[in-house]
Amino acid sequence: MIVNDPKIEAPVLHLIGEEADRLGLECYVIGGWVRDLFLHRPSDDIDVVVVTSDKVTKDKVTKDKVTKEEGRSGIGILLAEAVAKRLGKGAHIAVFKTYGTAQVKHKGQELEFVGARRESYRRDSRNPIVEDGTLEEDQNRRDFTINAMAICLNKHSYGELLDPFDGIGDLERCIIKTPLDPDITFSDDPLRMMRAIRFATRLGFNLDGETFDAIARNKERIGIITKERIAEELNKIMLSRRPSEGWILLDKTGLLPLIFPELAALKGVEVKEGRGHKDVFYHTLKVLDNIANLSPALSSREGDKLEDRELWLRWAALLHDIGKPRSKAWDPQAGWTFRNHNYIGAKMVPKIFARLKLPLNEKMEYVRKMVDLHMRPINLIEETVTDSAVRRLLFEAGDDIDDLMLLCDADITSRNEQKVERFHRNYQLVRQKMVELEERDRIRNFQPPVNGDEIMAMFHLEPCSLVGELKAAVKDAILDGVIPNEREAAIQYINELWQKKQK
Ligand code: ATP
Ligand code: MG
Repeated sequence: MIVNDPKIEAPVLHLIGEEADRLGLECYVIGGWVRDLFLHRPSDDIDVVVVTSDKVTKDKVTKDKVTKEEGRSGIGILLAEAVAKRLGKGAHIAVFKTYGTAQVKHKGQELEFVGARRESYRRDSRNPIVEDGTLEEDQNRRDFTINAMAICLNKHSYGELLDPFDGIGDLERCIIKTPLDPDITFSDDPLRMMRAIRFATRLGFNLDGETFDAIARNKERIGIITKERIAEELNKIMLSRRPSEGWILLDKTGLLPLIFPELAALKGVEVKEGRGHKDVFYHTLKVLDNIANLSPALSSREGDKLEDRELWLRWAALLHDIGKPRSKAWDPQAGWTFRNHNYIGAKMVPKIFARLKLPLNEKMEYVRKMVDLHMRPINLIEETVTDSAVRRLLFEAGDDIDDLMLLCDADITSRNEQKVERFHRNYQLVRQKMVELEERDRIRNFQPPVNGDEIMAMFHLEPCSLVGELKAAVKDAILDGVIPNEREAAIQYINELWQKKQK
C-alpha cells in the first residue's frame, strides 16, 4: 500500500530519501510517527531506520564511510550527517557513537537515525545484545504491532507502507498487541508491559487478550526495570485524558501491588454490622478523572506538554486519600471512620515520592500540602464558620488555594446528584468568603509585617525562643482578625505584649 497523506510529502522526508539514495542506503520512517500519522495525531519526532541496500554491499559502505570502531550501526550516523549537511545552518546534529544513533534537530523537529537492528536478550537485563539486522528483524523487535509499521522514503518506492503485523488493522480495532509471542516480548523487556498500559490509556485502546494475559503472567519481571523508567510511564499515564484507565489496567494485570502497594491497599470494601465504606481505590480514580476533566480541550498527545502544575495536581488527586487504610477504624456508633487520614496521608507522601523516584522538591511539597489540607474546605461550609478559620486556610494554602478548591470540588463523587449539587453550591459560598477576606486582608501570601530581626532590635534581644513566640503571636493575631494585616498595628501589638511580659 502506498500511503496517501500530505504529511508524507514533507520536504524533509523527501530530502532524507534522496540522501539515502545517493549513499546507496534504504531508509524508512518507523514507529510512533507512522502510528500517529494514521491516527491523525500531531507528532514531532521522526524515527528513521536505515538498512544497507542490495545494490551496494555493506562492505563498500563500511569501507568508505564507517570504520569498525565507529560501531555496528554507523549507517544511521552516516545518513544523519548527510541530511544535516543538506539542511544547512538551521540543523543541529548530535551523534551517539556507542549506540550507533544520531539526532538531527531542525525547525522544532527531531529526526532520529539508527541502523536496523536485531536484538537478543539475557534474563537479568532489559538491555539487549544488539547486532545489525534487516528491516524485518528491526520490526520484529518492536513493542507493538501499531508501533512496528514503516514507510519507505527511497525514491523507488516512496510512501510504501511495510506493515508485517497488521498494525493498521489493530489501529482500526483499537488494540494494543505485541508483534511476536507476548510472553517473550515482555520477558525480554518488561518495560513493555508499562508501555502497553500507557499506550492503551493514552490512545483509549484495549489490550489484546493474549497480550493482557502475558502481562499478568510476566508481572514479576517488572522487578528488573528501574524506578525512574516506571515513573516516566506513570507520568505519561497520569497526563492522559482518562488516567484512571491506566491504573485500572495496572490493577487488573497484577502490576499495581508490585509498583505501588499503597495505592493497591485502597482497594476493597469492608462490611461490619451491615455497614460498608466506599471503595477508596475507585473513589480515588473518579477524583483523578474529575481533575483530568478540567483540561477538556487537551488531546492526549498534547498531554506531554501540559503544565507541570497539571501533573502534580493529578498526583495530589491520586494520593489525597492514601492515608485512609492506615487510619481506618470501626466505631459502633459512627460506623467506619478515617480520622486524620489527611495528616497520615501527607506524612506518607515524601516516602512514596522517594520510592517511586518522583522529584523530592517543591513538587513533592505541593502534593504533600494538598493531601494535608484537602479536608479543610469541607469544614468551612457551615454557616457559623469564623473568618479566622478561613484566613488560616488561606494562609496555609497560599497561592495553591485555587488548586486546593479544585481538588475539593473533584472530591465530591457521591451518586446522589442532589447531594453533589449541594456540596458544589456550598463550596461556591466558601470561595466567595475567601475572595472577600482576601480582598480585605491580603492573607494568601502574607508575611508577618514584623520580622525576627526587627523584634530583636526593638527590645535589644539575642536570638531566643521569646523572639519566636512574639512573632507567632503577631501572626495569630492577624489571622484571627485581632489586628489588621499592617505594620503599625503589628508593632503596637508587640509592644503591648512586651509590656505585659515585663510585669
Ligand atoms: P511517543 O509518542 O510516546 O513518543 P513512540 O511510539 O514514538 O511514542 P518512543 O518511546 O519514542 O515511543 O519509541 C519509538 C519507537 O521505538 C516505538 O514506536 C517502538 O517502535 C520502539 N520502541 C520504543 N521502546 C521500545 C521497547 N521498549 N521495546 C520495543 N520497541 C520499542
Ligand atoms: Mg517517540
